[in-house]
Amino acid sequence: MIALAALCAGLLVMPVSAGSIVTGQVSRRVNKVRARPPYEVSPAARALHGRLRVADMHADPLLWGRDLLRRNGHGHVDVPRLIDGGVALQVFSIVTQAPMGINIKSNDANRGDLITSLAVASGWPRKTWTSKLERARHQAGSFEAAAERSGGRLVAIRTREDLQEYLAARGTGTVAGLLSVEGAQALEGKLENVEALYVMGVRMVGLTHFVDNEAGGSAHGTSGGGLSEFGRQVLAALEERLMIVDLAHASPALIDDVLKHGKTPPVVSHTGVRGTCPNERNLTDDQLKRIGAKGGLISIGFWRIATCGDDADAAARAIVHAAKVAGASRVALGSDFDGAVAQPFDASGLPLLTEALLEQGMPEKDIALVMGGNVLRFLSERLPER
Ligand SMILES: [Zn+2]
Repeated sequence: MIALAALCAGLLVMPVSAGSIVTGQVSRRVNKVRARPPYEVSPAARALHGRLRVADMHADPLLWGRDLLRRNGHGHVDVPRLIDGGVALQVFSIVTQAPMGINIKSNDANRGDLITSLAVASGWPRKTWTSKLERARHQAGSFEAAAERSGGRLVAIRTREDLQEYLAARGTGTVAGLLSVEGAQALEGKLENVEALYVMGVRMVGLTHFVDNEAGGSAHGTSGGGLSEFGRQVLAALEERLMIVDLAHASPALIDDVLKHGKTPPVVSHTGVRGTCPNERNLTDDQLKRIGAKGGLISIGFWRIATCGDDADAAARAIVHAAKVAGASRVALGSDFDGAVAQPFDASGLPLLTEALLEQGMPEKDIALVMGGNVLRFLSERLPER
């Protein structure tokens, strides 16, 4: 979500009719892969990967208007490539705001918004041009529509029962999807919009994204603030509704506040760790320990700002470090595929990560946990029953 800035500025001047073509071109430029498929891995890694239930906590393909059911020659995620990568469950994230000049250090909410440009240029419904909640509704709708016309290849998960049924019946050639939102600005300052997101199928909410919002401070905002009074109410409302609280992009003070006031374990849906890659985007060992102690999940991303590297080995190093500090049962994958970042591989390349974890000496039972076992356990404990 960094390289998007310059490209989206250009979208403002495009006619709406050219929208989907232009959005596709932007996606091609910002969602690059460093190595293209097919991916070669050792027979041992391929065999182990085939036995895993893989799950990824964060990807943004809904932003780009691609047909999720078709194999695309660009970007990182679509159903055929998720299936090739052995993915059992993918969290599809909804993005509603991204500031001009986006960066990981300091972003001012008043500097203009790239998603407004994207919504206009993509020809999204007019309501989305001014409403972040409507942007969420639009992206949730495109996910649901894809699931409906997929003939069972993409299964929308909203409840524990959905997940259990899916896992019990899972054959090859299917993937489950769960909706999340990046940033509580999608609530537009109204508590009742928690319910609106729930009705759309959203089951995980990141409290902040790149700018401070009504709920609290972003890791990349200007205030460094924790939870606001509204944020406390949002936290309580999410927990009451059994919606998962996501601390990706949260300021350190916000993380502290949620760990203090929250009654349920939070997740960090996509992050790196300072132990292998020190910068503002990534979690300290102390944060890893405290989130782990609360029963939360830390989902490790693959892109360079998260890992300080460009390959599966760098992501594996971050995973191994997080497992050492917080425990293997607290670590997961949070790729940030299609998040306007270059990735070492697309979704079909996930066996490379299994191979890198094997090479770094992680025991097979721990690989099974971090590659997806923990996410599926967490969701089967935390989602609404039915
Ligand atoms: Zn993000």
